Amino acid sequence: MTFSGSFGVIPSSFQRLSALAFGLALLLTSQTALAHPGALWGIDLSSVVALRDQARVAAYKSADVPGERLSRVRTIVLDPGHGGDNNGAIGVAGIREKHLTLELAYHLREAIQERYPDVRVVMTRYWDTSLSLPERVHLANLAEADVFLSLHYNAAVHNRAVGYETFYLRPQDVTPEPAPAVELPHDDASPIEGARLVGQHGDDLVFIQRDLIRAHQHELSARLAHSVQDGFRGHLDSMDRGVKQANFGVLRGAHMPAVVVEAGFLTHPDEGSELIERDHRQRVVNALLDAIVTFDAELERVLDAN
Ligand SMILES: [Zn+2]
Repeated sequence: MTFSGSFGVIPSSFQRLSALAFGLALLLTSQTALAHPGALWGIDLSSVVALRDQARVAAYKSADVPGERLSRVRTIVLDPGHGGDNNGAIGVAGIREKHLTLELAYHLREAIQERYPDVRVVMTRYWDTSLSLPERVHLANLAEADVFLSLHYNAAVHNRAVGYETFYLRPQDVTPEPAPAVELPHDDASPIEGARLVGQHGDDLVFIQRDLIRAHQHELSARLAHSVQDGFRGHLDSMDRGVKQANFGVLRGAHMPAVVVEAGFLTHPDEGSELIERDHRQRVVNALLDAIVTFDAELERVLDAN
């Protein structure tokens, strides 16, 4: 399926404007700027990032930007685990899980968008902000994601635990919880606007696909979890701890295939040191890219059979 149709709600003047925003955003969202998130020179960076995403999609639809295509996956939501008051696990060098997951999410997002320019990647948080588990799921549902990856690093009370594992919900826990009544934090409002914008381009096939994905959510989550483990096996030398089922709050109520990814143990003396290396992060990014490609093929098979 291609995006050859008109962009619908976006006028061409927006496209010219967004080309400018795209350049500005690329400049502002460089590594240096992201290391000090929130605001830079008085500019709210979260809205700049959202503008960049809209600009990328607008540019792609207005011209035939070269790039590979996925068959069915259009929107991916990356959820950097923890954040703000919630540090997550503390690693061997005092590294906080919340920082590692955010950095991984940014690099994975760049890698996906570089290879698949027409795939939208929305993050549940762009900065070191607190976000409840229901809010993360709610955001993924609002973004009408086809894939939800909650990114984590593991911890154990004893330091011998090592390896990667992926979780999806137990069947008895799938019953959705009501959407949170609270407003999402300001930082996350802009990506949602962007998500809605693209969700409204009027392609009936998108709505049919979304209904089918929702109907097969649990089965597809299992396939997604296995795709992630396959990806890890191809890129990491560590121990394969397998696909597991658990009752994770961050997965409850998700309308789309959703998994918790635990990329390695921060508390293991060797693995914990490796995890903070750039090389390891790149291998995790490559593993998850492969997982998305594998899952896209699985998704096509399931949807074609229904
Ligand atoms: Zn975690």
